[in-house]
Parts: sequence; structure tokens; C-alpha cells
Amino acid sequence: MALQPAMPRSWRAESKPHKFCPGCGHGLVLKALGEVIDELGIQDRAVFGCDIGCSLLSWDFFNVDTVQTHHGRTTPVIVGLKRANPNLIGIAYMGDGGGYAIGSQHLVNSAFRNEKITVILVNNTQYGMTGGQMAPTTLPGQQTETTPYGRDPEKTGYPTQGPEMVAAIAPEGAYVARGTVANYRQLKGFIKKALENQMAGRGFSFVEVLSTCPTNWRTNAKETWRMVEEEMTKYFKVGELRVPGTPREGGKDNG
Ligand code: SF4
Repeated sequence: MALQPAMPRSWRAESKPHKFCPGCGHGLVLKALGEVIDELGIQDRAVFGCDIGCSLLSWDFFNVDTVQTHHGRTTPVIVGLKRANPNLIGIAYMGDGGGYAIGSQHLVNSAFRNEKITVILVNNTQYGMTGGQMAPTTLPGQQTETTPYGRDPEKTGYPTQGPEMVAAIAPEGAYVARGTVANYRQLKGFIKKALENQMAGRGFSFVEVLSTCPTNWRTNAKETWRMVEEEMTKYFKVGELRVPGTPREGGKDNG
């Protein structure tokens, strides 16, 4: 009899093919999240919110309560659910376009208010679902559908440094980290700490994940991993930026 691979309990029991392209990083991020939900035993308390863009393809992955929201609005929807029922564990899942462009005001103000939710944001340096246009995270010089000669920071600014921004404004109870799909164990640890921070009622938790989009990058397997391991990490430093108990740098803490 063929052995079935171990599935996180929080995943849906029906075996359905996922909808991501081969080599997409979303699957790794979601696997880490599912394993952490199981390990923390929060399947019955978790509410998973997903945005528009490729992140929405996760809407039927988990056997947890799920809500799919308008573009950029996942964070305030999860904030509302959490405020209505503080016992819930609210998880907002989105891409860099939803989190740093159209939804940036929600990210910033939720962090300022120290909302006790967890935001997981997947950074693959462009808009994936719509065909690879420039996003807030597109690297200087990177070619996309809308920057065919490479992103020029003189015209379009420099990439958004999301975790650095959130770490600079969130009160003392916040947890902020940047992981990468190229280091699964570390990434899973960051997601676990973020959810534990919420469970402890300390404050806002935010994990950005450096991820892959070979379809729009037009890269083979080797070039895909070189992009995420070398090019992206030159600009986006991986690691923890804030752990609970450390005040904001250079300012009075309002937590
Ligand atoms: S377009 Fe990119 S981000 Fe979207 S599913 Fe395909 S590889 Fe993943």
C-alpha cells in the first residue's frame, strides 16, 4: 500500500491539486503556516484572511475559517474580526502589492495601533497574478512588464522596506521579521513566534517572506533560487527586526 505523505491537520482533507505555478514560493509559506497552526493547536481558533492576487489562491487550502477580501483590505477585515472576538487568532495573508501599495495605510495604522493580529506578506518583487508589473518591492534595475528597461529609482522611488517600516512605528509588544522560502526552518520559526506573540496578547506581529515567481521572472529553477538567495537578500535583509519587549528605536514608545 502506498504511504500518504504527512499533511498538516489544519489542511483540508480532500486531496485537490493546488493552483500555484511550478516553483512558486506561496506553497512553502502556506505549508509552514499550516504546520505552525497544528503545532500550536489553534485550528479551531484561527481565522485566515487572504487578499486578491496570487495570495487568494490559498482561499480553500486550510480547514480553518477563511475569508477572502478586496485588494489590500485583508488587514482591516482581520482586525475587525479580532476586535469582535478577541479569542480568535487572526491571520492576514497577502502579497506585496496588496500589503505595500493599495493596502499600505492599513498595515501602517494597524501597526501603530498595535492590533493583536498576525500579518504574513509574500514579497516576490512584482504583481504576479496580473502578469508581472512593477510593485513597491521591485528591485532597482529589475525588468518587469511596466519597467522594460529596469526600475529607475529616480522615477519610481526605491523598494518598500516593509519590516523596517513596521519595526520603526510599532509599539513595544510587536514582533517583526523577514524570512525567506530559501530557509524553511527559519521561516517557520518566525511564523511561529509571530502567532505566539498574538496568542500572548502582546501586540502586532508581522512577517515578510522573500518568495519566488518563476513565471513572471521568466527564470529556470537555478536562476529562480539565485534571484531569491542572492539578488533579493542584497536589498532585503533576512532576520528578526523587533522582538517583544524592545521599544521603538529613537522614539517614545506608545505601547
Ligand atoms: S504567477 Fe508567480 S506568484 Fe502567481 S502563482 Fe505563478 S509563480 Fe506564484
